[in-house]
Amino acid sequence: MELDKDVKYIKGVGPNRVQLLNKLGIYTLKDLINYYPRTYEDRSIPKNIANCVDGEEVLIEAVVCNKLSDVRLQGKTMQKLQVRDETGGCTITWFNQSYLKNKFVIGKKYKFYGKISNYFGKITMNSPVFDEKEKNFNTGKIIPIYPLTYQLSQNVLRKIMEAGLLEVEGKLKETLPNYILENYKLVGINQAIKQIHFPNELKDFDIARKRLVFEELLSTQLALLSLKNSYKNEEKGIAFSKDAKMSDVINELPFKLTKAQLRVLEEIDENMESEKPMNRLLQGDVGSGKTVVAMCAAYKAVKCGYQAAIMAPTAILAAQHLENFKNILEKLNVKCELLTSGISKKKKESILEQLQKGEIDILIGTHAIIEENVQFKNLGLVVTDEQHRFGVKQRTKIAEKGKNPDVLVMTATPIPRTLALILYGDLDISIIDELPPNRKTVETFAVNKNMTERVNKFVEKQIQEGRQAYIVCPLVEENEELDLKSVETLYKTYKNEIFPQYRVEYIHGKMKPKEKDDIMERFKLGKIDILISTTVIEVGVDVPNSNIMVIENAERFGLAQLHQLRGRVGRGNYQSYCILKYEGKGETVRERMKIMCSTNDGFVISEKDLELRGSGDFFGTMQHGLPEFKIANLFEDMPILKSVQSVAIKILDNDPTLEKEENVLLKELVKDKFMKRIEI
Ligand code: ADP
Ligand code: MG
Repeated sequence: MELDKDVKYIKGVGPNRVQLLNKLGIYTLKDLINYYPRTYEDRSIPKNIANCVDGEEVLIEAVVCNKLSDVRLQGKTMQKLQVRDETGGCTITWFNQSYLKNKFVIGKKYKFYGKISNYFGKITMNSPVFDEKEKNFNTGKIIPIYPLTYQLSQNVLRKIMEAGLLEVEGKLKETLPNYILENYKLVGINQAIKQIHFPNELKDFDIARKRLVFEELLSTQLALLSLKNSYKNEEKGIAFSKDAKMSDVINELPFKLTKAQLRVLEEIDENMESEKPMNRLLQGDVGSGKTVVAMCAAYKAVKCGYQAAIMAPTAILAAQHLENFKNILEKLNVKCELLTSGISKKKKESILEQLQKGEIDILIGTHAIIEENVQFKNLGLVVTDEQHRFGVKQRTKIAEKGKNPDVLVMTATPIPRTLALILYGDLDISIIDELPPNRKTVETFAVNKNMTERVNKFVEKQIQEGRQAYIVCPLVEENEELDLKSVETLYKTYKNEIFPQYRVEYIHGKMKPKEKDDIMERFKLGKIDILISTTVIEVGVDVPNSNIMVIENAERFGLAQLHQLRGRVGRGNYQSYCILKYEGKGETVRERMKIMCSTNDGFVISEKDLELRGSGDFFGTMQHGLPEFKIANLFEDMPILKSVQSVAIKILDNDPTLEKEENVLLKELVKDKFMKRIEI
């Protein structure tokens, strides 16, 4: 048995189906058996016809009463069959299935599985699958339902899967060491694979799933931690000099750093001075002051004769960083420049040239920095801001522009510890858990739709006092199904009906970068009173004069995202407000609104968000750069994740490079992850 063999050699797979399977990412036998069902249908327990409820999918066992009739109906054909069991009769119908003509024998028992319609007591089942009574292909068992592609049917894939599983049955080599199987009461790989596709009972599926989730999380965790070890042990990085003092920058600041900022700077300083390359994640709530931390680190690198690169997710943000950096660092003779796709060709050429000659010390920019023609003289430090917009791939790509430069990743999305370990397991973590003093908390109110008038009055009052407002709506285009207001309609309503006397503009993610920058710039300069926006403003833009944000359909957002959005106000000296307009009366909605109103602590909010929504939604807005799990669900499987993390740490403590005999299999798993990984 050869797991790497091409799927085309599996029974039932012709050239056509090879292509369809490839579309699903299935190329080899191994891929096939690791293609797990999306869900299951229990087609093992029959129901009496008389008890069938309208709309439900059921299995019935019934005797065929008459010959299948084949009726023509407006270009289609319809097949009809009368069946009955002890409790009643049922009409079964299909469309365009003429081949069924001679399939059924009158008086014989069959099993049918399909959707029931009960029209005033007249029971029909439409387009069911079926088996002869003794057979169990489509019915009589728990049936896996796979995620599919157009043109490949469940039946076909199931047949292929059965053929594939038959080839490997009982022959799969165990992938987890015995001691792990025993300690964590996990079933062997053969049982797990078989039962994940065709469980005898739902409880077998649970057992199989647990084993596969454990393996998936363990191999990811081990891979990330090994990566971290390898940064530390093998590669030599830059040892920045102790003589380059971050305090030069600190002394220029118009404020005192918080304890948390100082602690984090110490951690970074130590990392930078050591020869091991720094790979550090800096987490800190919105407004906690991460930018100055980046500035101090960049300064240190420059003082030691290296260059630094700061990468931000948007041009607006990059420009803002440049301004902040220049304010402080120009006094210290550090040259900072901006590189975004928006700048002129001539200017760009000049920047690239200066950069290569080492005349620019710190380059701040967007994705544009990653481009190939951007070459540094000697890049010593890479900072990426708001990392959830970048994946590891991009991070490493820019790091490759230097020789093992130190890397600092900053994010404002607080992540609970357990998750941070699996999402950023290759990085050391620093946390700023304190906001600068005298920060006014943003007063948050959750209101129902019928308060709109009062909310508008309140917004008006702020604007009359010279402030500016954000109004956030969730979608770009009208989507009737979700009944969300598009930014355009919202804009028109506000501009023409509610606030005709004010300067109202709108901004959304599908605009050209230049248009967006232009609008943000005007908003910053106070030339716009009310900015209607999608979540593009979520990312760190600083407009201290805007002190009020209204979020429409707040129930549609995740808590972490609401918190991010809210962080856009409360950046100046004015008391700031966030008004969450929501619809719906659900318990969860109310609970979520309550959390937002009661705390400004991003970590508390992200924990709650996880609890209330599940990890899928939690990461909905930051999908980029996260590892994709085939079977694990970070939320549901949190208990498994926790035990996996402690076991992974223990294993690597005892056997850092997985050399020991007992860990041979784990080493294989990690190797496998590295070959496919990279998307992490
Ligand atoms: P974020 O962590 O969200 O990126 P910023 O670095 O943009 O936050 O900081 C938010 C604001 O707080 C900025 O205007 C910054 O100058 C200011 N700031 C940062 N640290 C302090 C501090 N220790 N005391 C007072 N203000 C600070
Ligand atoms: Mg920031």
